[in-house]
Amino acid sequence: MENNVKNITNKIISDLKIRNNGDKEFHQAVEEVLYSLEPVLVKHPEYIEQSIIERLVEPERQIIFRVPWIDDKGNVNVNRGFRVQFNSAIGPYKGGLRFHPSVNIGIIKFLGFEQIFKNSLTGLPIGGGKGGSDFDPKGKSDREIMNFCQSFMTELSKHIGMDIDVPAGDIGVGSREIGYMFGQYKRIKNANEPGVLTGKGLTYGGSLARTEATGFGLIYFINEMLAYHGMDLKGKRTIVSGAGNVAIYAAQKAKELGANVVAMCDSNGYVLDEDGIDIDIMTQIKVVERKRIVEYVNRKQNAKYFEGQKGIWTIKCDIALPCATQNDIDIEQAKILVENGVIAIGEGANMPCTNEALNYFIENKILVAPAKAANAGGVATSALEMSQNSMRLSWTFEEVDEKLNKIMKNIFNMSKEAAKEYGHEGNYVVGANIAGFLKVADAMISQGI
Ligand code: GLU
Repeated sequence: MENNVKNITNKIISDLKIRNNGDKEFHQAVEEVLYSLEPVLVKHPEYIEQSIIERLVEPERQIIFRVPWIDDKGNVNVNRGFRVQFNSAIGPYKGGLRFHPSVNIGIIKFLGFEQIFKNSLTGLPIGGGKGGSDFDPKGKSDREIMNFCQSFMTELSKHIGMDIDVPAGDIGVGSREIGYMFGQYKRIKNANEPGVLTGKGLTYGGSLARTEATGFGLIYFINEMLAYHGMDLKGKRTIVSGAGNVAIYAAQKAKELGANVVAMCDSNGYVLDEDGIDIDIMTQIKVVERKRIVEYVNRKQNAKYFEGQKGIWTIKCDIALPCATQNDIDIEQAKILVENGVIAIGEGANMPCTNEALNYFIENKILVAPAKAANAGGVATSALEMSQNSMRLSWTFEEVDEKLNKIMKNIFNMSKEAAKEYGHEGNYVVGANIAGFLKVADAMISQGI
């Protein structure tokens, strides 16, 4: 039976590589999940009989569209827009939009695939989807961002809805972009449907604590994981890669719980501040002024700046929080981190560790809080925003934060229990994949082919 499952998994992966030729991040994401599902398939032959895996790896719908927009010089530019509606078994498609020059259909498929499991783990009724564009927001004026967002939404509006597909932000898309897109959706539909997008501004249907949610949620998860292993964050030397919302609020909450956050980075380089990163200064530079991280050393004594982003992982630390983008930590960085005595890895970004790096951490008994589980607080709070929109009321910061905390604890428990039940105790990567999968698979079976 076990050999049979291995053959089936290998066949699905080789077919997937042919059908999705060149989409290397998507292959990577699928391989990581499929190998960890093998013990489930051994125990549940009905999933094999019903071709659940073959169905799961093929998106329900993929939309690719042209996004023409006018820049400040009056030139017409053309970008490509994407929305992959991956799986709606447990709820409307839900997932962010990424605006970054690296975006292509393979990147969106990998993100959409991850989103299926992540959203399932939240315990809330949301399916998996993702979208975005190869548009580069860097250096664009506010007017250009607005032009682009309006054009993007002009096409996207035909495919989304509060009960169909609910986008939100991701890299390059924050509340400013969501605001422009929401305005355009409203103009086109002549209806105020706040539940169609999440991450909205607080004056028109956004949820308190949504901005903080991914970063806070990551730390709630880590705290729970450390507590289960008899540890906590107090005095732990911590490194956070990235300087966006996820990184900033993860650093803030980690500090609040006693960690010593000494380094953060952007795509140009990293800062090391042995006195502890000052979150207010960092937020001012990166979020308010949208400047490069090098600026930090001009405002904080004793802080040092180093060129090159990956060098951040050579700094000795107890806790490593990759909160920037995919494949931030590969085997080379993983080896350095382990050699330097890292205790735990918390994946704030989506797929920030390569599969080789993840396996290396697990083999070396490093605690890993995997992305699908550990960064699910953002989308979970998006689902809370949808609930508030449907009820036409808003909860306080404390109410949302408390719900988020409970959700993250629950995700840790589900991942822990699933890992134990399927023979991988302590491996939360496998546990999260299995726990996320089971609910989706059962819903797919119930709903027929
Ligand atoms: N982009 C975030 C993620 O990767 C949030 C998605 C959402 O809120 O829908 O989960």
